[in-house]
Amino acid sequence: MNYQKKKRNKQDRCNICGKMSDLTWDHVPPKSCYNSGSIKYNQLFEGIPSDKYEGIFQSGIRFRSLCEYCNNNLLGANYDIEFLKFTSQVSQIIQSPIVLPQTLYFECNINKIARAVCGHLIAAKNEYLDAPMFNELRNFVCDEMALPPSNRKLLFRIYPHSTVVINQGFTIKNVLSREKLGNYPLGVCSIISCYPTAYVLCDDGGNSGLRDLFEFCTTNITDIVKFPIDIKSCFYSNTSIFRHFLWPCNIGDDNYSVDLMLGGNETILGIQKRGFHQ
Ligand SMILES: [Zn+2]
Repeated sequence: MNYQKKKRNKQDRCNICGKMSDLTWDHVPPKSCYNSGSIKYNQLFEGIPSDKYEGIFQSGIRFRSLCEYCNNNLLGANYDIEFLKFTSQVSQIIQSPIVLPQTLYFECNINKIARAVCGHLIAAKNEYLDAPMFNELRNFVCDEMALPPSNRKLLFRIYPHSTVVINQGFTIKNVLSREKLGNYPLGVCSIISCYPTAYVLCDDGGNSGLRDLFEFCTTNITDIVKFPIDIKSCFYSNTSIFRHFLWPCNIGDDNYSVDLMLGGNETILGIQKRGFHQ
């Protein structure tokens, strides 16, 4: 599926608030998260885009899916500001030449950061999806006093890779080998991974060893919390082996891959021009 060619009426329901509007383009992830230049992209099963790639986003990966208010006011001038502060701090950690303690505490507005991630996840679809999971997320994003859906987690990890991975509504399983480590989230999952952070929305974190952003959310949108950043979250838990850049969608034979992924037919695997570690 080519995202840029797939038609969507210019006037349609906004993916977040649901109102009929002239739709505007939302960058996923936000433009200032190294998502403004040309990005080659493929679908997940076609591999990393190189000479043979399906398409190119000329000015960042973006979706015409939000009304102007949700795009520029709710996300752009509000939640994204906190998201960008957070990601620039994580970027400093990755580039720091100093040996850092395993856990660093960032004072940040997790309520807004979690809403930015959820808002962009909802925006990264070419249709308004009237499904319970999306409606719960919409309610959380639009209502500043709402808590996140209680049956969902939003896992966080440091992502020192140059790829962008967006995959919505997939389930993964190890069905062939019982010896595998089961180091993956459970239930219906969606991911946004883009330097310097990656997020997995899932039913349960399983044995992934990753911190859940939703756990730190409160009913006061202005609350600042001390969020523990686990420096080793870029590794598989209790190892010094880098999580695969596609994790948890890395299908393969080794102990850290999964055997099977269901769904996930709307995927984007982009490669940024910047020369970060792949
Ligand atoms: Zn809207």
